Amino acid sequence: MALTEELRQFSVRLAEHYGGVAEAAAAGLRLLLPPDLARILELPEEVLIGQGGLDLIYGSPLLDRMVHQATARTPVVLAQIAPPYLKRAGFDQVLARDFSFPNARVQITGTAEARTNYLVLSTHYAALSDERKEGLVEVAVQERSGAHIDGFCAQWPRFYPQFFAPEEAPPHFPGDLKRAARAAMEQAQIATREALADFLGSMDRRLHRDVRNTREYYAALGAEMAAGLDHPNLSEPQRRDRQAKIDLLPEEAERKIDDLKQKYQVRVVLRPAGAIRFLTSVVQVMASFQHRKWKRDLSLTWNPVTQALDPLVCESCEAGTRTLLARMERDRIQILCPPCAA
Ligand SMILES: [Zn+2]
Repeated sequence: MALTEELRQFSVRLAEHYGGVAEAAAAGLRLLLPPDLARILELPEEVLIGQGGLDLIYGSPLLDRMVHQATARTPVVLAQIAPPYLKRAGFDQVLARDFSFPNARVQITGTAEARTNYLVLSTHYAALSDERKEGLVEVAVQERSGAHIDGFCAQWPRFYPQFFAPEEAPPHFPGDLKRAARAAMEQAQIATREALADFLGSMDRRLHRDVRNTREYYAALGAEMAAGLDHPNLSEPQRRDRQAKIDLLPEEAERKIDDLKQKYQVRVVLRPAGAIRFLTSVVQVMASFQHRKWKRDLSLTWNPVTQALDPLVCESCEAGTRTLLARMERDRIQILCPPCAA
């Protein structure tokens, strides 16, 4: 079968991206694939696709494998934000506005200009149920702490970031993104649940409606059949037969309800679609954190994009929080989110 132009271009780009070679061959395409790619695609290293060779068509397992390979790695772009100014004073008010420390006294001891990284992750979600709903959510986290930064996604475009080609990127992007990526995916799950709230609510309402209708239907059917039991024309075996059918109705209703639950069950699939890593100047705010007679240092980050202090992360569960409670762990102060301190 002849190869469509779209699939021809896709095949060429995929092969060349992995260091392979693609050349036109009659109405098809001859691919010379590096061994790793050939193995993943389950193809020989030299293969003819299209007319006279392997069919590459929509819905084919081969195309699925190629698409999967092309999207297996999340594309990451690097960028730098140069804020027009950094806050110099007034951090006491900001601290009081952005945080609460119910059982500690916190005093700012100094500030310094610093640099930090933020990760903006776009995630594609698909909710599959009786209906299908898809969309994108975008979340931002501070790379070092993993704290979710509310408002960052909406604000960063206003700063006209400079985007780098891969070979031009400055060296200030730490290599290990595991913690940030994990935190961003967790946050994306929360954002997805919010984005799907109406959809989940509607599936839930339809399930309840159908379950109620099913119960009512079987209750009415049971009542009608029971009323007929006294009919004078009914022989004793017929009566027993009908009673047996009535007895089975609740079981049948439960089976139907289980089917409905299956039908409206929502399966959500999340897939990272792309990421931007930002490097920006920030103000590091040093503070002393005092709980009764104990003291320790605290480091906060003033974020020029959100014009706020970034949340801190709980030292137990690593969730971002703006309410921080001290708890003594031997002679050391642990700083915890309210649920962990409870
Ligand atoms: Zn916690």
